[in-house]
Amino acid sequence: MSKQLVVALSKGRILKETLPLLADAGIEPLEDLSKSRKLLFDTNIPDVKLVIIRATDVPTYVQLGAADLGIAGKDVLLEHGAEGLYEPLDLEIAKCQLMTAGVVGQQQQGARRRVATKFVDVARRYYAEQGIQAEVIKLYGAMELAPLMNLADEIVDIVDTGNTLRANGMEPRELITDISTRLVVNKAAMTMKHDRLKPLIDRLRQAVEARRKG
Ligand code: AMP
Repeated sequence: MSKQLVVALSKGRILKETLPLLADAGIEPLEDLSKSRKLLFDTNIPDVKLVIIRATDVPTYVQLGAADLGIAGKDVLLEHGAEGLYEPLDLEIAKCQLMTAGVVGQQQQGARRRVATKFVDVARRYYAEQGIQAEVIKLYGAMELAPLMNLADEIVDIVDTGNTLRANGMEPRELITDISTRLVVNKAAMTMKHDRLKPLIDRLRQAVEARRKG
């Protein structure tokens, strides 16, 4: 196994909150990520590299050992499954909620409904637990459009401020689970590279605790 450590970061919204936390933990890219189209970056720590990839690809990189560590939303991890991954730390950033939502004033009553989401497995499990027969339709974006276009009765999506729902005449309904960003570690690397990984994980844990104490 190479002695290099690769950390996979989710690009987009989570990245903006991840970089300051990494900096608090003493891990900083050697160049400004926002000014570069590169995807692989050196850091101030020798042999620690960052890769910036789609959030949904982070668990795959870490599970298969292409990255040793990953930073990803719990929503993405729930949908991907936990095989090959440890989740040692809640980074307590990019907090939001996974919820069902529907068109204002069109509350669903029946035991059958069509649900649009990108979180297909999470949605199937949730509705099964509720005893609701759901036809789950996979979409890759713009979930809020689905009920308006009669593609679905309701959606399962991430809600932060609720502004996206409100702007589309929709309202949040049931909370499925609270979401935050987690650190994940490749299980084999945790054993084989423990001496190198442990100090990094400890530094991140200390950074999270320091923020919590405020
Ligand atoms: P809001 O309008 O503030 O409720 O944000 C909702 C939209 O922003 C959702 O459709 C999500 O796609 C996205 N979003 C908000 N927070 C997060 C997060 N922590 N992780 C991933 N996506 C998010």
